[in-house]
Amino acid sequence: MTVAYISHADCGRHDTGWQHPEHVGRLRAIPRALRHDVELFQALEHLEARHASAEELALAHAPAYIEQVRALAAQGGGRLDGDTVASEGSWDAATAACGAVLDGVDRAFREPGARAFAAVRPPGHHALRDRAMGFCLFGNVAIAAHYARQVHGAGRVLIVDWDVHHGNGTQALVEDEPAIRFVSMHQWPWYPGTGAADDRGPHRSIWNVPLPGGLPPDRYVEALSRAIDQATAAWVPDLVLISAGFDSLRGDPLGGFTLELEHVDALTRQLVQRAEAWCAGRLVSALEGGYDPDRLGAACLTHLRALG
Ligand SMILES: [Zn+2]
Repeated sequence: MTVAYISHADCGRHDTGWQHPEHVGRLRAIPRALRHDVELFQALEHLEARHASAEELALAHAPAYIEQVRALAAQGGGRLDGDTVASEGSWDAATAACGAVLDGVDRAFREPGARAFAAVRPPGHHALRDRAMGFCLFGNVAIAAHYARQVHGAGRVLIVDWDVHHGNGTQALVEDEPAIRFVSMHQWPWYPGTGAADDRGPHRSIWNVPLPGGLPPDRYVEALSRAIDQATAAWVPDLVLISAGFDSLRGDPLGGFTLELEHVDALTRQLVQRAEAWCAGRLVSALEGGYDPDRLGAACLTHLRALG
């Protein structure tokens, strides 16, 4: 089984400036780390993503907002939110980021068990239907979940988000569709302030796991596993999507969780095993946060190895 590594050079054209934590150096750290593992590099199928279309983005976003982002980039960029900026290349970057996840979904339904990691930026899990938020322009993973249902006829989609921040955007974009279940583990209290355990969404299809920072790492792994168990009790998904935020690792400048690489390995293997049991191994993972570039590169390698 070949794991696909899907990315696009345009993801580097979302220019936030080097002072911004979500800078282009994050993404560059991944191929840099891969160069030190020739065996893994050669085992991966390297794919260049397509750009998602405006129609595909509209699976989860308001057309007026999609046009606002496109127009802002065409004008040379500007500010979208207190901490979210767009540059001239941001439309191409954001559509490539989403397209990479959609390509992973296409591949998962074409070849049983074909897993993929979308190494992309900007991230997506804070983006709301009609506005950017928290470094995110479009909800890449939420769009991919709706896309899998509409284009590939997936009955049920499970999204697991282990980024240290609550995936408030993903929740907002999927909570009205009970066939998509969302499990998010995140630091609490922390940005963006949402994601209480009793916030289950209108169809009780959301499992939020808020936890304090600084716990022993096994506590996070156990809590997330338990929530996945609850979300999938007598409910078998046809596709598993991961919002892989590596800001949940110990030492991240924007988070206080304590995961080490061994926990990234364990969480990834656990979801691969579950996907094998549930849905012929269909699993697509997409990069979200992770703000220590070297640590991010190492985590992505661990994640890629465990996906294989
Ligand atoms: Zn994050």
